[in-house]
Amino acid sequence: MPVFVPASLEEAFAVLEGAPGAQLLAGGTDFMVEVNAGQRRPATVVALGAVPELKGWRLDGDEVVLGAGLTYTEMISPELAELVPGLAQAARTVGSPQIRNAGTLGGNIATASPAGDTLPMLMALGATMTLGRSDGGRRAVGLDELVVGPKRTTLQPGEVLLEVRVRAGAGRQEFLKVGTRNAMVIAVASAAVVVDFERRSVRVALGSVGPVVIRAEEVEREAAKLIDWDARRLVGPLEGSGDFGELVRTAARPIDDHRSTAAYRRHAAGVCVTRAFRRAFSSEESTAP
Ligand SMILES: Cc1cc2nc3c(=O)[nH]c(=O)nc-3n(C[C@H](O)[C@H](O)[C@H](O)COP(=O)(O)OP(=O)(O)OC[C@H]3O[C@@H](n4cnc5c(N)ncnc54)[C@H](O)[C@@H]3O)c2cc1C
Repeated sequence: MPVFVPASLEEAFAVLEGAPGAQLLAGGTDFMVEVNAGQRRPATVVALGAVPELKGWRLDGDEVVLGAGLTYTEMISPELAELVPGLAQAARTVGSPQIRNAGTLGGNIATASPAGDTLPMLMALGATMTLGRSDGGRRAVGLDELVVGPKRTTLQPGEVLLEVRVRAGAGRQEFLKVGTRNAMVIAVASAAVVVDFERRSVRVALGSVGPVVIRAEEVEREAAKLIDWDARRLVGPLEGSGDFGELVRTAARPIDDHRSTAAYRRHAAGVCVTRAFRRAFSSEESTAP
């Protein structure tokens, strides 16, 4: 099996043009698990780890541009965590230090697992993904246009996820995850909440409780009614308003599987969202879940 290691994006696209069925490899933390389990048998591999254009992050006006090859360890770095704290919270919950050093944002998105830990926060932040083709074509899509089912994306053969854009310092961001233990765990349920005081908006996304990440718009509308935007505080207890947790449980579409019952997933999602809101309005610095 030929493995190409291009040293630039141009080189990567040149290889993909000659072998459109080639499979992309980033950190390999999903890819190699599937190869080892016999679920993936690539004819040709294009390893993206040496492509500088996909690495790191930069500021572009009021946006943070995150390379597809950004690792979890980089997401946690203090400079980036200050600009996108919710992503750093999510990254802290991923795997082990080894996985966080190797695994990438692009790999998490392209794997399209309902339990992918960066996905709820990207949805809550309204992130835009840029995809590129060898003919120079580029398209920008939201997460809901890219990830369309469990392990299903609209990425076309030969297309590469290049970067992800989010607004820098977009309000209070909270990510919470429930699993069967504290570390090295796939989420049973997770939630991301972004309360944007400048835009007076609330966005809520749920992970691991549906085939894809779910944006809970009804929850957002009800939550917005509980916020005094000028004072930047909650004006009523979350539980008091039409049973907030119940709204979350209704938004969730979980399944029973070996990790959890659907009923527990609904319950856990409700707890995560309620707690995330409390943290978003707490004067103390939020802590990683
Ligand atoms: C022990 C262990 C623990 C884990 N814990 C967690 C966890 O807690 N939370 C979590 O969310 N995940 C977890 N994972 C899953 C995995 O680490 C993440 O999904 C990771 O982000 C995958 O990134 P990668 O760079 O390793 O991708 P790879 O494995 O290299 O690739 C994954 C997929 O993405 C595609 N791809 C990669 N880059 C691009 C690109 N630029 N454009 C288009 N397609 C691309 C590949 O073709 C492949 O289909 C864990 C995995 C292991 C082995």
